[in-house]
Amino acid sequence: MGRAEANSQRVHLNGIFQANLSKLKRLPVLVFHRVVEEIPDGPLYDIHFTRENLDRLMRSIRKMGYETIHFEDLSARPIPRKPIILTFDDGYEDNYLHLLPLLQKHGMKAVIYLLGDRTIPHNIWDIPKGAPKVQLMTNDQILEMAKSGWVEFGSHSMTHVDLTQLPPDEMEREIRDCKSSLEGLLGKPVISFAYPFGRFNESVKRGVSEAGYLFGIAVEWSPDDFSDDLMEIRRICLSPDAGGVEFFWKTSILFPAFRRWQRRLFRRHLRLGGWRFGSRHRPPKHMEKVNGPKEDR
Ligand SMILES: [Zn+2]
Repeated sequence: MGRAEANSQRVHLNGIFQANLSKLKRLPVLVFHRVVEEIPDGPLYDIHFTRENLDRLMRSIRKMGYETIHFEDLSARPIPRKPIILTFDDGYEDNYLHLLPLLQKHGMKAVIYLLGDRTIPHNIWDIPKGAPKVQLMTNDQILEMAKSGWVEFGSHSMTHVDLTQLPPDEMEREIRDCKSSLEGLLGKPVISFAYPFGRFNESVKRGVSEAGYLFGIAVEWSPDDFSDDLMEIRRICLSPDAGGVEFFWKTSILFPAFRRWQRRLFRRHLRLGGWRFGSRHRPPKHMEKVNGPKEDR
């Protein structure tokens, strides 16, 4: 067993971790991607948040009494009264340029999910679909963010692939090698793994757990409560222009039930032929996503 793996095991057995988990029911985990100065025209995906809007949102989050934590805090200290985790997928360079100053300004923490293959310079997984090329963070930028203390890093696979489509040995390699690559870079255990494209199944979850991760980070169709399944942590996705009201609604206990109801309604309409592909009467854009699992990019 490697040193990092042994450390992960210790966290598992750690009394603070167990105590925090036992009293933890609701821990909102938000998902973001890019932080930009201006939202580009006609983006392929809703993954942009302007610096200005994130600044405003962070202020609202603080005003509501939330305190940001890292996953590693769960085994290090008692959790605050209203904890929240802000996550950012893919490791875009704009996280270094625009997010880090905001974290420093507001005294807030974030978790960023990186690729283990550190030779990949940009978003190669999105370019074939017509997305523009976007620079990812360099190792130096990552280390500077880690040193600031505001950022924890997690794994997002080696090469940003749909793990459910790989043969078992390749899937396991994507998960395991990402952990060792990032631990080599950061010099500390990497304890959480965000499923690329939000795609996973039972064998992917098992692969993540067996590789020594403590948390598997999913998207919105996962258990309501944080501690129900640590390999399937639910995340909340906000729209690019979200403010305090949307944040309040989506972090409320009513929201997951509302989404399930909305999904059931949508499926019923599909069964009844209410919305057909190519029809003028398509569902609203945000509901089209309900059927597609690729919420995370
Ligand atoms: Zn991603």
